[in-house]
Amino acid sequence: MKTKQCLVIGLGRFGTAVATTLYEMGHEVVAIDHNEENVERVMNLVTHAAIVDAGDERALRAMGVADFDVVVVAIGTDVQANILATMNAKSLGATYVVSKAIDEMARRVLERIGADLVIRPEHDMGVRLARQIATPNIVDTLDLGGDYAIVEIEANERVKGTLRDLNLTGRFGVQVIAISHAGKIEVTPRAEDIVRPHDRLVVIGTSHNLDELRRFLGE
Ligand code: ADP
Repeated sequence: MKTKQCLVIGLGRFGTAVATTLYEMGHEVVAIDHNEENVERVMNLVTHAAIVDAGDERALRAMGVADFDVVVVAIGTDVQANILATMNAKSLGATYVVSKAIDEMARRVLERIGADLVIRPEHDMGVRLARQIATPNIVDTLDLGGDYAIVEIEANERVKGTLRDLNLTGRFGVQVIAISHAGKIEVTPRAEDIVRPHDRLVVIGTSHNLDELRRFLGE
């Protein structure tokens, strides 16, 4: 697995969870907050933590924002600070900026100013939970032995399009064996079959490759 260089801005509950988990998974994590206490709390749990105001463009530039693989703006409540941090990160050349929005209006603004991915954690988790409750799984994880498994995953914005274009076999070494769309199951999917966000895919592969796919999906 390639080590990613990650910058997490804002160390509330959400930002701290993102930063410490990425670090535990072996990635390089720089975590910043303008509040000293929050920085001290994560100091030993990430690669480097610093007191920085993300509204200060010069300070962000000095951190080399453009060199990170991903920048996560985890400021929620202070919408203005979130917008400013996202704008600064993008204008300083950050390749991939994920921003946390507290509501629909913030989401629209963040998308407009160039955030590559906007998430609304509470809203998104609520939708996901409702779907899980409403849609029973086609299969539970099926351990085939010899490190192979069959699992069910939910497609999202990152995994959509035709199976040919998605090329999950080439990219992750896994094979889609069924697609469930709006309750209808296609058990012999062909290359031209389209995967839409929220479709459920039954996928076979090694546990490692399936984990990689899940990680890519953000599960
Ligand atoms: P959560 O709900 O995940 O706890 P919050 O919105 O409450 O999220 O927390 C956001 C964090 O971002 C806080 O720790 C706050 O100190 C930090 N923060 C807010 N504005 C800035 C800024 N301009 N620069 C850096 N950190 C900031």
